[in-house]
This record gives sequence, C-alpha cells and structure tokens, in this order.
Amino acid sequence: MKPVLAALSGMCLMLCSAAGRAQQAHEHGVAELHVAADADELVIEFASPLESLVGFEHEPRNEAQRAALAAAEARLRDFDSLFSLPVAAGCVLRGVALDSPWLQGAAHAHLHDAAHAHARDHVDGHAELVAGYTLRCEEPAALDALGLSLFEAFPRLREIRAERVSAQGQGAATLRPQATVLPLR
Ligand SMILES: [Zn+2]
Repeated sequence: MKPVLAALSGMCLMLCSAAGRAQQAHEHGVAELHVAADADELVIEFASPLESLVGFEHEPRNEAQRAALAAAEARLRDFDSLFSLPVAAGCVLRGVALDSPWLQGAAHAHLHDAAHAHARDHVDGHAELVAGYTLRCEEPAALDALGLSLFEAFPRLREIRAERVSAQGQGAATLRPQATVLPLR
C-alpha cells in the first residue's frame, strides 16, 4: 500500500465513524479537518460536535430541531458553499458522505433507527457529525490551499484543527474565523 493510502485508511479508522468518535471527549466549538491528496484523488473529512453545527446534541424533539438538522445536512452536502480550491486544479466533487446519529436525509434512515442512535452514536450526552468529501483533480500540482467558509456557515465553530497529508508531506494548522485558509503544501 502506498504511504498516502495507508495514512488515509488510518484517518478513516479514526474519522469514518461518528459512532466511534463520539466515544472520545470532544470540545464544543472545536472541529477537525483532515485532508489527504494522493495523485488526482483528494479526500476531505470534516468532523464536528453536533452541538457546534445545530446548537444541540440530542435526538431532535420538535420540528424546529429537525429542520435545523436538515439545514445543516443540506449545507454540508453543498461542498462549493463551504470549501474553495484553486480553479487551476480542476477538482470535481465525486461524492459526499455524512454520518451522524440523527440524520434527516431519507437515504440514511434505514441505517440509523432511534435505538441504534441511542445504543451506539450518542455516548455520554455527546454526538458528532462527520462529513466526507471525495474529489478528483485534473491538475493536483495546482492544489496549493484549501479555503473554508465553515465558520460563516456554522457560527458556533471557533476553531478547526486541520491536518493534511500528501506524497509531498504532512502538515497541520489551527484555523479560526480570522484564518480560514489551509495551506496544502
Ligand atoms: Zn458534545
């Protein structure tokens, strides 16, 4: 396995399951972002406390809370409204996957019934949402930075701890509302 792919699968072990993540302590207002580039593939994973996206972390109890969850999901599926990549890189979104205990999207309903949510995803009163994006980029050499609009979209977020990995190396940065660009090289 190539090193970057190995790093990717390692990320996945940590990040692909909101259920697994919820068992770790998280800090409200602080999210994580992992970016991996391998040849023309670009994978972005955003993991946040649910509280920091919708203001609560329990099963939705009324129409307003269901609507808040649905709105957050819709926004997170709208990649171009949250992330910006260099136009020269020619990146095309290939897929979006969301994982969280109470997703409102119909496609998710069969995976997470209420019992499942309580049993696995909602641990010690905390819950997370993980959004994964897969892109293919025509000119990966032009991938020099990733810009974020996540702080505008989700004002409860105050910090995003970002890590990147590619064949060129690894890096980390703490992003804040005043510093929303992650260098990719
Ligand atoms: Zn929490």
